[in-house]
Formats: sequence, structure tokens, C-alpha cells
Amino acid sequence: EEYQRTFIANVSHDFRSPLTSIKGYLEAILDGTIPPQMHEKYLTRVISETERLNKLTQGMLTLNTLDSKGYLNRTNFDINRVIKDTAASFEGTCSTKNITFDLTFSDNIQMVYADLGKIQQVLYNLIDNGIKFSHTDSTIYIQASSKYEKIFVSIKDTGIGIPKDSIKKIWERFYKSDLSRGKDKKGTGLGLAIVREIIQSHGENIDVVSTEGVGSEFIFSLPKSTNL
Ligand code: ADP
Repeated sequence: EEYQRTFIANVSHDFRSPLTSIKGYLEAILDGTIPPQMHEKYLTRVISETERLNKLTQGMLTLNTLDSKGYLNRTNFDINRVIKDTAASFEGTCSTKNITFDLTFSDNIQMVYADLGKIQQVLYNLIDNGIKFSHTDSTIYIQASSKYEKIFVSIKDTGIGIPKDSIKKIWERFYKSDLSRGKDKKGTGLGLAIVREIIQSHGENIDVVSTEGVGSEFIFSLPKSTNL
């Protein structure tokens, strides 16, 4: 019950602030406080707030299906290929911040047995964070290395890092550090909660090593394909 209460309080809080600004901008446009030549600027903000609400709803739905022990649709696939494709999908965002990827694979092809769609989401969320919290003109290092019956995937940035006292909280639903609240208005604080839920549902682990002002590294494991 306590959990339910906190959850609802967080949801309400996170929905209220974009709704308040949307209402404020639209009223100011209607009553003329914002002059016509400024409409485009404020309507763009309205759209960005609705995108945030959309992301929140999407994230909550994803968590909800993961919660209800949504079954895993496991297949054998090459994790290197998925990393390359996911990284490539960030090309646009990367070029505006001049961020490059450095990919290292311990073997040409590394087959894992996992839920492809969900692992794509994990990589997407971790790379998205890596870019968001990196400075311009930097590199994001992604590695996939084989160790015994596992493949370890690491996503490492040289960005703002995570303060010691918030490192445990980053996995909580809706948690966003104060630092990132200002910088990243589109964030929902649900990304890492989803990532952890997915990795744990595979029976695997995810860890983070981070130093404020130096950067962060997220490492998770996946089972290698067997009987191939
Ligand atoms: P969001 O990115 O939407 O804020 P997440 O759940 O993905 O939500 O992340 C929660 C918080 O963890 C972020 O707000 C940020 O404070 C911190 N964080 C996550 N990834 C990184 C990173 N690569 N570098 C620094 N801080 C990070």
C-alpha cells in the first residue's frame, strides 16, 4: 500500500508539471499575453511537453507489462549486430553534440539467447543516457566481451557522472538527479527502472560504476547461446 501511495504521488507530480505549463502557454496565447510572432516558439514548447507526457505514459505501460511477468520471447541473435544497429540509430543526435562511438567486440559474432526487442530497449536507454549526460565532442565506449558462459556488455561515457549519494537511487522509478532535472527536461526517470527490470527478468545482472565529473559505466550480462 505504501508503495502504491508513493507511486501515485510520483505519477501525479510528474504529470502535473507538464500539464501546468501546457495550460499556461495555451492560455497566454489565447488571451494575447503571448503575441502572434511568439506563437511558434511557445507552441513548440507545448509539443515538447506533450512528448514528455507521451514518454511517461509509454514508460509506465512498459513497466506495467514487465511487472505482470510479461513472458520473454527468447531467440538466438548476434549481440554485436544489435549494438551496431542501435548505435547507428543515434547518428542524428550524435552529430549535433559531436559524439562518436567506439565499439569493441571480443569476437566477430557473439550469439546470445535473450529477448531481442527488450535487449534493444536496454541498449537504447543506456546509450540515450550516455549521450544525454555527455559533454559535446566526446566518445561513448561500448564493449561486448565473452567470459565463460556469459557475454558482458558495457556502455561507458565520460560525462557528468553520478554523485555518490544518488547512485543507489538511479534505479528507482521516477528518480532524476537534480542536476539532470535542469539539463534534461524530457527525461522521465523511468529509463533505468525499465532497464533493470528487463535484465533481471532474464535472470542476469546490471551494475554501474560512476564518478561525479568523470563519467559512468553500465555493465550487464547476457547468457551465450547454447546448442549452436
Ligand atoms: P531519465 O534519463 O529519464 O532521467 P533514467 O531512469 O534513465 O531516467 O535515469 C535516472 C537518473 O540517473 C538520471 O536522471 C540521471 O540523474 C542518472 N543517470 C542515468 N544515466 C546516467 C549517465 N550515463 N550519466 C550520468 N547520470 C546518469
